[in-house]
Amino acid sequence: MEDKTMGNVWWKEPMRVLQYNLQVRDTPGMDAEKIARETEEMAANVVVMNVGGIYAWYRSKVKYHHVNEFLPEGRDLLQEWIDAFHKRNIKFVARFDFSITDDTTYQQKPQWFARHKDKSPYYRGEKRMGNWSLFLNTCATGGYRNEEVGVPVIKEVLENYDIDGIFFNAPFASACFCERCQEKYLQKYGKEMPDNPDDFESDWLSYCTKENIGVIYKAIKDVRPEVPMILYYCPFTSKTKAFGRFDRDNIYDRYATADLICTESQNVLSNGINEIPETIHPVLSMKAGQTEDGELLPFGIIHSCPGMDWRHVGLPENEYLPWMCQVPAANGTIWHSVTGYNDTITDKRIIHTITAVDKMIVKCEQDMHGAKSKADVLLLWNGSKAGKNWADILMKEHIQFDLMHDYRINKERLMTYKAVIIPEGFPVKDGLDKVLAAYVSAGGSLLAERCEPDEITQLADFFGVEKNVQKGEYLYASYMRFEGKGAPIKEGMDTDKAAFRGEVNYCIPFRETEVLMTLVPPFAPMEVVGAPPERASIPTPVTDIPLAMLHSYGSGKVLLIPFNYHMLAASFHLKDHYRMAYNMIKLLSGEDMLLKTNMPSGIQTTLYEKDNQILVHLVNETGQRPLMDTIPVYSLSCSIAIPEKKHVMAVRSVIGEENVSYKESAGRVEILLDKLEVWDMLSIDLK
Ligand SMILES: [Zn+2]
Repeated sequence: MEDKTMGNVWWKEPMRVLQYNLQVRDTPGMDAEKIARETEEMAANVVVMNVGGIYAWYRSKVKYHHVNEFLPEGRDLLQEWIDAFHKRNIKFVARFDFSITDDTTYQQKPQWFARHKDKSPYYRGEKRMGNWSLFLNTCATGGYRNEEVGVPVIKEVLENYDIDGIFFNAPFASACFCERCQEKYLQKYGKEMPDNPDDFESDWLSYCTKENIGVIYKAIKDVRPEVPMILYYCPFTSKTKAFGRFDRDNIYDRYATADLICTESQNVLSNGINEIPETIHPVLSMKAGQTEDGELLPFGIIHSCPGMDWRHVGLPENEYLPWMCQVPAANGTIWHSVTGYNDTITDKRIIHTITAVDKMIVKCEQDMHGAKSKADVLLLWNGSKAGKNWADILMKEHIQFDLMHDYRINKERLMTYKAVIIPEGFPVKDGLDKVLAAYVSAGGSLLAERCEPDEITQLADFFGVEKNVQKGEYLYASYMRFEGKGAPIKEGMDTDKAAFRGEVNYCIPFRETEVLMTLVPPFAPMEVVGAPPERASIPTPVTDIPLAMLHSYGSGKVLLIPFNYHMLAASFHLKDHYRMAYNMIKLLSGEDMLLKTNMPSGIQTTLYEKDNQILVHLVNETGQRPLMDTIPVYSLSCSIAIPEKKHVMAVRSVIGEENVSYKESAGRVEILLDKLEVWDMLSIDLK
């Protein structure tokens, strides 16, 4: 058998994916030719359409596979689609969803369905108006999702249709208390399944998903090994109303039963302005979905709507555009998800916006093909709030960074970064202490945000403090004071102090440890901070309580921050806290940072390299979210380090095609870009 998983397979080339989430009632109006032509006009080269699971969009012979009753008589719609797309060189990915099915099947095969603790099934959308059958959640370990329906359906489609890929919607196992799941849980962990899904072992649901998808994956590879399977991965732990708890995934667990992975960065605005997703969500999801070798790129699925309750209208264009652009700018593959197809999409702005983004991607995708991230800083990553907030600080300060997953600590890879950040709560275990010590000994720099006494005493010698650490109460009305040696942290800030709140771990530094910042304790209780000013003097303007300590260790340095710095930045968005973080990283990583710029914090920058090219993406997120306007930025300047012995041949504005001027000097190139609208990529061509 020819092994097509090696070498130049289609899914290792640049892709622009468009998923039509079809409604069965629209089936009769579908014209395959027209849909394929419009897909091509939108500059997509991969299409994803409903094929099996909830509804079969072909005449399936598998029992209990519900055939779409709106399929036209005497025609094979699925075949028509595939032919029409293939004629235009558009790959066809078949979407399957075995997570729910009909009440008629439930009555015949109740053992296939997921159960609450009280054994009742999970109904899905039982209050939906209209003449619909009732859906119920299936169990990931049951026959429907495995050998009885899932496997034969997959085989039936692969044997009869020339599909190019398989995508699983809603593949995750949801909490299930059926006898079979309880038995499996007991076998795996040697204890009874807890009553509350929140108390499940942290890898249980992931394990159930892996087992189930493994069965499907094998079925695919048995029939047509060249067909890639695309599976969701979950970059953050979260909870949803429909499916319950989602645990953050290990991407390597997902790759064990998949060829490609995808994630959603749904821009849910319908939860209200206090609940809108982090601005950096897509870029962070893409960074968290990269493998160590950077060989396979994650898909970033972006829904066209401002929340599923408003799935029939589009996201505001000025918000939608840069949100989508973050995916390719973070080296992910765009995957547009729309409700219906062009004839039924009545908000035509969705079509215009997707087309605009795809055409921008076309301009830069060949340059980006095979490019690798280039970064100064490595952020240790376990999907925590602290990690996200540090990522936000780094993005706003244009500091180039990569993530290293807690489940894949790699000393050799870590050694290649100028500075490493270990955020609050990131556990030092399984030999990480030795890895960090070796890294710093060899000249690396570590920024350690440690917020519990145990976290500090665990590595006291490394941090350069006594083992005696005590945590104080939450302080208001207090400040961080820059000491003489802390001057680099206040660079660009003409002040002696910055705002502070929080709990301090009181440390006693070794004599050789440099104290860069100290605490100015509360000048007044919170209730009288405003009045009277006559008594607003600071009673103790100077203490020796350290808030930042720099310790030399081997050839390198450790900067210990003994309080929750990331929350200070995230809670108040004061520029000082971002600026100080930048200065701390600069202090650690040296003057020669890859990218230096005074661009506004709302512009996201990401940097990549190839043999004779440096590529810099600029995505304009300037303005208050959700963005009501596109605010162009003019005269953007930046300075980029160029590799030794290389020289600049040209600098191009690849997407925006704006004017660029540049000057090379002392191993760097100074670039001036006239204008940035939404997204641009600068290519620095080297010789
Ligand atoms: Zn079950």
